[in-house]
Amino acid sequence: MVTLRPSRRALMRAFAVLVGAAAVVVPATAALAAPTFKVPFPCGQTWSGQTRSDHSPANAIDFNRANDDGDPVVASAPGTVDRVTDLGNTSYGKYVRIDHGGGYTTYYAHLSRFNVSVGQSVRYGQVIGYVGTTGGSTGPHLHYEQRSGGTSIKIKFNGAQALYWGTKNYTSDNGCSSGAGNGTVNTSGTPLTVRSGPGTGYSPVDTVADGTRVTIVCQTTGTTVDGTYGTSNIWDRIGAGRYIADAYVLTGYDGFIPGVPRC
Ligand SMILES: [Zn+2]
Repeated sequence: MVTLRPSRRALMRAFAVLVGAAAVVVPATAALAAPTFKVPFPCGQTWSGQTRSDHSPANAIDFNRANDDGDPVVASAPGTVDRVTDLGNTSYGKYVRIDHGGGYTTYYAHLSRFNVSVGQSVRYGQVIGYVGTTGGSTGPHLHYEQRSGGTSIKIKFNGAQALYWGTKNYTSDNGCSSGAGNGTVNTSGTPLTVRSGPGTGYSPVDTVADGTRVTIVCQTTGTTVDGTYGTSNIWDRIGAGRYIADAYVLTGYDGFIPGVPRC
């Protein structure tokens, strides 16, 4: 006898297909863990970020600081550059999009110029372009977005949500993760004074011999010092409460060492 009633097993199978089909739709909301996004500027820099409910899209941040035209913009997380586009005098103007996987992308708009090409892999802190005022912009700033599944989302840095709505300073730790730097003390003989803080006004706590290799935990500015390598107000922290004048340290860099955090 032929029956049109489906068997219990067939019903179960149909149900499983439905659940399976539903599962394909669900991930758009049950998203994968977001990447750890960082402030899209080099390690140690502080930028004023503004959110506005009348911004397009509303969840974007406009970043500014004094004399920011031409300042480097960096990838806020590792990923692959998938757009390097010039929309001319409209909208984003020159913009870069980075695909971070898991449906997450970031947008960097109104750039003055690009420093990456499509298909390029980028890491934390890598310069992708420079601040400008291209497209629909009335002055130099960076328009920055985070998107999930193509939809603009509320921006997070290191997992903490940005200020909505208003203006707040954000200090970058992007690309600082390479951590400590190194240098060699060069005083032409005399031991170099180690001080408790970044300046000649701080008390001496120790000395390091000429030629000593030092690990630089972080750098900051303090008293200006004339040393073996010229005049500098940079001080290197080489331990807890231990600072030496960078003007006496061969680091391979004239200013701050890239990737070493500000104290
Ligand atoms: Zn904007």
